[in-house]
Amino acid sequence: MPDVPARDEFPPGRVVSLTPRVRRITASNPGAMTGPGTNTYLVGAGADVVVIDPGPDEAAHLDAVAGAGGGRVRTILTTHTHPDHAPGAPGLRERTGAPLVGFEARDGFVPDATLVDGDRVEGDGFTIIAVHTPGHAGNHLCYLLAEEVLLFSGDHVMSGSTVVISPPDGDMSAYLASLERCLAMGLRAIAPGHGRLIDDPDAALRAYLDHRRDRERQILDAVTPGPVTIDEVVAALYPDLIDELIPRAGQSVWAHLIKLAGEGRAFGTGRTGAWQATRE
Ligand SMILES: [Zn+2]
Repeated sequence: MPDVPARDEFPPGRVVSLTPRVRRITASNPGAMTGPGTNTYLVGAGADVVVIDPGPDEAAHLDAVAGAGGGRVRTILTTHTHPDHAPGAPGLRERTGAPLVGFEARDGFVPDATLVDGDRVEGDGFTIIAVHTPGHAGNHLCYLLAEEVLLFSGDHVMSGSTVVISPPDGDMSAYLASLERCLAMGLRAIAPGHGRLIDDPDAALRAYLDHRRDRERQILDAVTPGPVTIDEVVAALYPDLIDELIPRAGQSVWAHLIKLAGEGRAFGTGRTGAWQATRE
């Protein structure tokens, strides 16, 4: 995994130009799950601007995004409806008049229009293509900026940390398939929902896939001797984890076990029950 970016590299409200068409403003919500904060992206250097992920409902951040949009924001896209990505959407609509667009209404997010895989959003000098990437969330969309073969990855891929896969909405099999799909796209860059621009996307995607395969092997080994609980697996596999992240690790282990169960390689009973490997 790449280095964890320092928070002072992402001062809230600062507009950072990343590519000819892409600017980034980071919200002031740093944390164990959000890294230096949620990245809001502005796409477009001409007459139109599209915003990707308004972030949390934080007035100073939304003011900065609307200000950088300069009256040219035409569409507000969301990658998914988690609380660090979508709640700022209505406030940004109020400030810009632009419609809210996402995969579906959920978690308090109510879009004015919805997108499915392959849908396009055109603007002056750019085309954005929606890529449905379930796994982290069932309603997760990445957005491909066609002209730069750059993927806005939301929480599908982050810079500096792995992604939480939390059942039942989080789905490890779907997540790995979505990573493979991104790997097949021949990307030139990934602009993640948290952390730095990733300029070696295939290496990052392969590192994610390798990490999950290693984890899966470790979890299968952990449940092979006989029935064990997910909490016991977490204690064995993540001995140094900070308390705040332990519940998330439990969810990730559960997600792996559900995948293994679907493949007939393990069986067990939910988040709190005992699990074991299927005998060969
Ligand atoms: Zn998320």
